[in-house]
Amino acid sequence: MTLHVKVEREKCCGYGICAEICPSVYKLDDQGFAYVDTELVSSDDEDSAVEGAEACPELAIVLVRS
Ligand code: SF4
Repeated sequence: MTLHVKVEREKCCGYGICAEICPSVYKLDDQGFAYVDTELVSSDDEDSAVEGAEACPELAIVLVRS
């Protein structure tokens, strides 16, 4: 099972909490909104990627295991 993450940018309000918790997965653009370089999360980053997603106040990060 691999973890994929997706940021629903229309929901993101730019709090930056996800990037604070898991900077290797969640990046912030010039305006402070989150994006990911790749939706595929390495196994090393899984725990903090999930933690970052669960901390998002806007529930803007979707996690998919497949
Ligand atoms: S925590 Fe949520 S609202 Fe904040 S930057 Fe990340 S995705 Fe956007």
